[in-house]
Amino acid sequence: MFQRTRKVACPECNGSNFWHGNPKPTDVLVCRYCSAAVITYAKYVEQAAQHEAERLLAEFIETDISRDLAHLKAVLAATGPRPSL
Ligand SMILES: [Zn+2]
Repeated sequence: MFQRTRKVACPECNGSNFWHGNPKPTDVLVCRYCSAAVITYAKYVEQAAQHEAERLLAEFIETDISRDLAHLKAVLAATGPRPSL
């Protein structure tokens, strides 16, 4: 599902760690540099999903905002009084 990157930065030393194989949700990624517990796989998947959603949203906003604003203006113009903002 999230094959593109399985890299996780350690919160302690900012080292790059990677998930290998097929982790279980309860597996904990341990930093290979400072041995700190970085994150559980369940949490990682949750965060990856959230980051992906944010990325897609940001992409959508960047590419579509001018078109959407034009559309919004057209809709507002067509449906009568503008909201006073
Ligand atoms: Zn570390």
